[in-house]
Amino acid sequence: MSFFSKKVSRIQPSPTISITAKAKKLKQEGKKIIDFSAGEPDFDTPENVKNAAIKAIEEGKTKYTPVNGTKELIDAIIKKFKRENNLNFDSEEITVGCGGKQVIFNALLATIEKDDEIIIPSPFWVSYPDMAILTEGLPVVLDCSQENNFKINPQDLENKITNRTKWVILNSPSNPTGAFYSELELQNLAKILLKHPHVWVMCDDLYEHIIFDNLKFKNILQVDDKLKPRTFVVNGVSKAYAMTGWRVGYGAGPKELIKEISKIQSQSTTHTSSISQAAAIEALNNSDEFIKKNKKIFQDRRDLIFSNLKNFTELQVFLPQGSFYVYVCCNDIIGKKKEDGIEIKNDIDLSDYFLDEGVAVVPGEAFGCSNFFRISFATSNENINEGCKKIIDACKKLK
Ligand code: GLU
Repeated sequence: MSFFSKKVSRIQPSPTISITAKAKKLKQEGKKIIDFSAGEPDFDTPENVKNAAIKAIEEGKTKYTPVNGTKELIDAIIKKFKRENNLNFDSEEITVGCGGKQVIFNALLATIEKDDEIIIPSPFWVSYPDMAILTEGLPVVLDCSQENNFKINPQDLENKITNRTKWVILNSPSNPTGAFYSELELQNLAKILLKHPHVWVMCDDLYEHIIFDNLKFKNILQVDDKLKPRTFVVNGVSKAYAMTGWRVGYGAGPKELIKEISKIQSQSTTHTSSISQAAAIEALNNSDEFIKKNKKIFQDRRDLIFSNLKNFTELQVFLPQGSFYVYVCCNDIIGKKKEDGIEIKNDIDLSDYFLDEGVAVVPGEAFGCSNFFRISFATSNENINEGCKKIIDACKKLK
């Protein structure tokens, strides 16, 4: 009998984290790699945020904080929801954790019994299914076709709901496709969800601020607040404020859920770093300009990727409305052979081949949707131009 638990043997290390680490290592070894794998903004954390952290250290804010976060941070989160989403939460409805990742994991751990079902629209962020498995739940993958712009068809959602369904995960804008739900689309999903009162909704809004073409972000609660007693809204400072390493995510939802999450957190990490919390307060309260500026930069980069790849018809690029990812269909490349005669059998082989050719991407298989790969455009225009050229040249060498 193995010493190690079965549930851990059923999960993989996060592929996004692994590939990014591999690309970094190759770079450290002196290899020239254009890194299109990293799911993190390439900008530095804003100066005012860094200064708030330094000030917190100097003022001795280096001790334990309340498990759910400091009062000042909880107040800043409440204000953020009011200001940006017109949602009202009180302090007992907020939790802060070590990144959106831990907040989602805590919520699943707090609610999932063995074989409870979690509906996960695919393509999905790599960690949802494995988190579901770790909590002994069953990930139920809901395929969202490209024809439907990688978004949930409400009828398909209803077909997946059973009496074991506990959660449906909504991620708009989506990682990895950048698909964005309009108000009307959210209304249509809300209509289905309202018919199934035992199902809770987990909104992963991490990319809320990275949206293009003057779209206005809406959370499903802004569209139908009848879902509020069973919706958990997850957000964080990582993507919006270039603060991935600070590890601050937060969740807002019914206080019974927050209470259970708080128990788990008090027995595991206690809370995220007090210094990171001080930085997050400044980010949430005073960084509107930073967000505005970066949104424009990301939109320009998206357009640049698109113009680089659009004439190369063997790859089909899905134009994202948000996030800093493009999802690229590589169907026409699969089955071709490299110069050494070895066949590219799938998107994993293709991503490995691209890495040999000096560009790191994440294979679609990691997101539950093969024959695609994900490009992160959280990198400079020069890198975008060079990386796209490398991808096209590499594809052209295949026979
Ligand atoms: N969310 C980012 C990504 O998809 C960062 C890595 C991770 O936590 O998955 O690349």
